[in-house]
Amino acid sequence: MLTAEASLDLAALRHNLHVLRGRAPGAKLVAVVKADAYGHGVAGLLPALAEADALAVARLEEGLHLRKLGVTRPILLLEGCFCAADLQLAAQQELHSLIHSPEQLAAVLAHPLPKPLHAWIKLDTGMHRLGFLPEQLGDIHAQLAACPWVADEIGVASHFSCADEPGSASTQTQLACFISATADFPGPKSLANSAGLLYWPGSQFDWIRPGIALYGIAPDGQRCGADEGLRPVMSLRSRLIAVRDHPAGAPVSYGEKWCSDRPTRLGVVAMGYGDGYPRSTASGTPVLVNGRRVPLVGSVCMDMLMVDLGPDAQDQVGDPVLLWGPELPVEEVARHTGTIPYELVIKLTPRVVRTYRDSDRER
Ligand SMILES: *Cc1c(COP(=O)(O)O)cnc(C)c1O
Repeated sequence: MLTAEASLDLAALRHNLHVLRGRAPGAKLVAVVKADAYGHGVAGLLPALAEADALAVARLEEGLHLRKLGVTRPILLLEGCFCAADLQLAAQQELHSLIHSPEQLAAVLAHPLPKPLHAWIKLDTGMHRLGFLPEQLGDIHAQLAACPWVADEIGVASHFSCADEPGSASTQTQLACFISATADFPGPKSLANSAGLLYWPGSQFDWIRPGIALYGIAPDGQRCGADEGLRPVMSLRSRLIAVRDHPAGAPVSYGEKWCSDRPTRLGVVAMGYGDGYPRSTASGTPVLVNGRRVPLVGSVCMDMLMVDLGPDAQDQVGDPVLLWGPELPVEEVARHTGTIPYELVIKLTPRVVRTYRDSDRER
């Protein structure tokens, strides 16, 4: 019997890709699949990403892995290359590399490359994490354009820090900064992540870079993917492995953090922080047992968590449990856990079995 399982719906992913494309007709869509497709398992998702114009990852190793899986489309390295040897590999494998620092620029200019490097200049428009200042853009573009082993088409990209906050003044400033800095820029421009794409019309430009929204999850802490017409790709499931009578006044689990105030029945679910379900998840967080919302109670253990099924519960060992998915948004669980949905899906461990389905074919 399969217990901890992340079931991934390829139909939902195709649907989301279609919805997001509709938000920026004419723009190329870069599917951000870093961190193993946000914990969803990139290899299994590739068939549903066929419509994406390009893929993006953070690191070189992730890009090389995608090439090994047979991806022939452009792949963007969002953090770029960290040394001369990385650049050789990136050029060889035709990976697009962001260039965000003087060190990266110097490395590109210093060493001839086996094939033309597809370069993107990273601009800092206000995130203050990576990138060149807007006033440096012209000079850097000129240096790259004059470099014989840099491909002719050079792009420019930047990243939002607060696009998930409606009406954020910082986002308005970043957008205005990007527009004015790139007004005369000859190559493709890219700014919007999921939040930009969903909440900031005017940030789309030539290449959109959605990550979290592709997986059907809203980038801000308040809304849900469904509010934007998106469908959750992941259902995190498990099963009851014990159902027990539990007396009033008795605690459960490590540290005795929760006590029942009535006689009830407790369910033990095969899901714990060893699977990536956070130990910090509070009592009261909803869990779906047989499609019914029940509260998590007591500390989450490494391999198990407990739920209060209620005094009249008829649930049996082996019955299905949903930790998050279409019927219980991961955004809601994240609010109970004091984190963001990104972290919940990405932190699932290898013990959780990833299975892939296509709900369109099940109809
Ligand atoms: C991760 C990342 C994205 C995607 O962000 P989402 O919020 O998941 O849409 C886009 N651009 C860059 C540079 C990133 O690092």
